[in-house]
Amino acid sequence: MTCGKINFACTRCRLSKGRTQVVPGTGRCSSPIVFIGEAPGREEDLKGEPFVGRGGKLLDKVLKEAGVDRSEVFICNLVRCRPPDNRRPRKDEIEACSRFLESELETVKPKVVCALGQTVANHLLGNKERMAELVRKNRTVNLGSADVRLFVAYHPAACLYQRKNIGSFKKSIGASLRAAKLKR
Ligand code: URA
Repeated sequence: MTCGKINFACTRCRLSKGRTQVVPGTGRCSSPIVFIGEAPGREEDLKGEPFVGRGGKLLDKVLKEAGVDRSEVFICNLVRCRPPDNRRPRKDEIEACSRFLESELETVKPKVVCALGQTVANHLLGNKERMAELVRKNRTVNLGSADVRLFVAYHPAACLYQRKNIGSFKKSIGASLRAAKLKR
């Protein structure tokens, strides 16, 4: 299910030119936790759903191992259109899409946000910290109009390329689910 206001015909930034379709966040609109990724990749662009490729399968698996089904959480991205060649979304593209992320967060009203990867964490925190520091701390931040607990996990794709990141990834996902009271 999608939550919040999404413009499926959006042309606010250059990413609209190369997309197959807008990829809104999906999941439970009353979820206590929102996972935020960077941007849709090829599979997501084709299917119109976030995290349905290899990275998404890993996220689903780690959620399952923690006893949580994907349908119980809300998953979205900083930007809703696929960047060319899966490059990182640029600052102006993230800004152009921020009203949709804000609308999703205002609708879901999560207690906990889990940022997937450094780009997302740096954007939400307005800092330049590296993953090694980001995953160690958990913080309370003001997103939109509410305070949320922010956890940072390695991006699933970073775990597929570097298997050594999987342990940290599972730990961060587990800690964020516990904070959201979805896991004991
Ligand atoms: N990577 C992301 O950051 N988001 C997706 O939806 C898919 C891959």
